[in-house]
Amino acid sequence: MKKDNSMEEKKSFPYFKVICLVIALIFAFFGGREFYELRHFKETFVSAPGLTEVKMLSDYLASLKGTWMDTPIFVYDSGVPGGKVLYMANVHPYEPATSLSAYILMENIKVTKGKVFVIPQGNRSGSTTGMLGNAYPKFFHVPTSFGEKTLRIGDRGTNPLDQWPDPFTFVHYPSRQNLSYQDIRNMNRTYPGRENGTLTERASYAIMELIRKENIDISIDVHEASIMYPVVATYVAHERSFDIAMMAAMTLTATSFDMKCESSPKGLRGLSHREWGDFSDTLAVLMETPEPFIDRVVGPMTEELFTEGKDEFLATAAKHGLTYVPYSLDFGSPLWYRCGRHLSGALEVINQMNQFYPEKEVIVEWPTYEDLKEHDCGYFFHDPDNADPSFVFKI
Ligand SMILES: [Zn+2]
Repeated sequence: MKKDNSMEEKKSFPYFKVICLVIALIFAFFGGREFYELRHFKETFVSAPGLTEVKMLSDYLASLKGTWMDTPIFVYDSGVPGGKVLYMANVHPYEPATSLSAYILMENIKVTKGKVFVIPQGNRSGSTTGMLGNAYPKFFHVPTSFGEKTLRIGDRGTNPLDQWPDPFTFVHYPSRQNLSYQDIRNMNRTYPGRENGTLTERASYAIMELIRKENIDISIDVHEASIMYPVVATYVAHERSFDIAMMAAMTLTATSFDMKCESSPKGLRGLSHREWGDFSDTLAVLMETPEPFIDRVVGPMTEELFTEGKDEFLATAAKHGLTYVPYSLDFGSPLWYRCGRHLSGALEVINQMNQFYPEKEVIVEWPTYEDLKEHDCGYFFHDPDNADPSFVFKI
């Protein structure tokens, strides 16, 4: 009898297990669809007519070709000899007001002397995934006269689908400084990079090659920072560019908005403001705007928090003197403010370079802080459906 019972058990259909499997597959399907959508979504922009060339990062290191770290570089050459500028955004793709600022810049740029290089997606791979475990939206939207513009909100580092696993400790090359394990996927810890290193190190190396081969005079690395982090609303400058950044900070503070200036620490390796200056002749400057979205103490991480930057927990922290910029719920830290700071911040360091080094002069125009304050971001975009298709790009 005992034997017969066990035979019966074996034969019975495992309904419970199959139902669990089906439910898991349904969740996996809907979850996977979200990941797929972010991974493959392309941002659209219409370049200003001054565009002279589109390069790829893989032009500077061939092994990047066909990888998710390959990214376009837009070149605006006035044809008049002068200095060269690099504006690089979205090295940390969870700071995407930086790529928004790059698109506003490129839709409206006019260069009359020198040459400007723009990289709107510094870490292209990192912009195709969200920060794991942070439960924040995949996209944000900017209203324009022709509808909403959609942009990705990415991760801080390279997508683990493209570079994995992380080591227990990340040993920086060539200093051998030990850094946090996940920083092996952080492009702003892997400079000057190496030709045969990890995917992120190779992308960093290619940026160095771009700076060296194109003889870039001033390289501007554009970031956003949490407002409880001391290095916010700040230029961080290599010692060769410190005077320029300090003069720019004083000028902006006197005329437009508060801007601090800090010197790049020599003991902290892998960062653009350190390695770009040490491993090339460029003047290296990093800029940070206030992005409450990435602060640790905020409430729900909604699209509105990203675009408006208003959070009551942060306002309470500000009342107790815990933030490094003045902060209120009335103003928050809206997109126009963050983009405007970057666009005028870059113009002012270029202006100061022109004063300090007249032989490197670059004469360029794009929307300023004051323009964005008056019109907001969407005003500066052009409708791709009514534009010359050869100037419409999807990244
Ligand atoms: Zn950053």
